[in-house]
Amino acid sequence: MELIIEEPGKIHQTDALIIGAGPVGLFAVFELGLLDIKCHLVDILDFPGGQCSELYPEKPIYDIPALPIVSGQELTDNLMKQIKPFNPIFHLGQMASELKWDSKNNLWVLKTDEETTIKARVIIIAAGGGSFVPKKPPLNDREKYEELGGIQYAVRKIKNFENKRIVISGGGDSALDWAVNLAPISENLTLVHRREDFRAAPDTVSKMYKLKDDGLIDLIIGQIKELKGKDKLEEISVSPVGGVKTQSVKCDVLLPFFGLTMKLGPIANFGINFENNLIPVDTERFETSEKSIFAIGDINFYPGKLKLILSGFHEAALMSQAAHEYIYPDKKIRFQYTTSSSSLQKKLGV
Ligand SMILES: Cc1cc2nc3c(=O)[nH]c(=O)nc-3n(C[C@H](O)[C@H](O)[C@H](O)COP(=O)(O)OP(=O)(O)OC[C@H]3O[C@@H](n4cnc5c(N)ncnc54)[C@H](O)[C@@H]3O)c2cc1C
Repeated sequence: MELIIEEPGKIHQTDALIIGAGPVGLFAVFELGLLDIKCHLVDILDFPGGQCSELYPEKPIYDIPALPIVSGQELTDNLMKQIKPFNPIFHLGQMASELKWDSKNNLWVLKTDEETTIKARVIIIAAGGGSFVPKKPPLNDREKYEELGGIQYAVRKIKNFENKRIVISGGGDSALDWAVNLAPISENLTLVHRREDFRAAPDTVSKMYKLKDDGLIDLIIGQIKELKGKDKLEEISVSPVGGVKTQSVKCDVLLPFFGLTMKLGPIANFGINFENNLIPVDTERFETSEKSIFAIGDINFYPGKLKLILSGFHEAALMSQAAHEYIYPDKKIRFQYTTSSSSLQKKLGV
């Protein structure tokens, strides 16, 4: 889909403003669109897709209904295709930074850090974990090696890691997933974790041990002590648990996967209730403590919440029905199926 991206610094007005263009924010465009609600989206990233495109574009997802396997980027591309008929307007590379209620005009007024103003009758917060930043290891010359590309915190293109000497550090899902996926294409891959116990999915842990037995992964239980290399990263010293001597590992790129720090950022000051950095909502409307501000996807909380993409899709559908009451207070929604409704099919251009 060709993105309709607005230049920053202008004033806009729309029905619904979605903060966050992750998978859930994108699907909300579809559900709102079926109800004739027009959307603008704001995202601090300069591309849509949220975590799927930023953190794991090439990693397969297996639990999207009716898509037995789809990568993070393919899911984003499919969502973009699905919402194309509704021509959403994107404000990318911009932080939603201030939200005020204009009681005279009955509208929310959102400002971004790039001086864009968007006025909307309803606000949908689909901000995931907020602006997420990777936790960085306390190592010597870290910033220097980051700049030289010797330390990276995400795998954007698998191809860039072909025939490289890779060290992955960490014991969670990302560390183990990438160890398993990158080992076959690397020159060599070393996984460093400080204890035998891995927090990743058991199946991935088994795959990692199989690759280790096949000689495709070197596993060191220990801690990285020092980075070495003049104009680029060349070597890492690791102190193995219980070992007397440090071990040197030749290395072109270090991938530390120590998790992400959630930075809620300005949303925390929008005047809505938060509990443990999440927005409590009801499970009928997904409305926040402020009327006409909704929260869907990873950012919200309710009893039984699962931080899964499919849960966010369901939340988007119900939220849209509630948002409709604010946009069209005098209109009742007639329940329709896309398979059989000619009016819905007309909106979809099929
Ligand atoms: C490695 C990994 C594997 C995963 N695998 C699966 C899986 O197999 N199945 C599954 O269902 N889920 C999986 N998940 C979880 C899934 O990615 C999330 O549940 C999903 O991305 C949540 O979507 P979202 O749209 O709510 O939020 P996000 O994807 O986090 O998107 C939120 C967006 O909001 C933006 N944003 C936040 N604050 C602001 C602001 N103030 N201004 C502007 N923009 C802002 C962010 O930049 C981001 O783009 C995985 C996650 C990871 C990290």
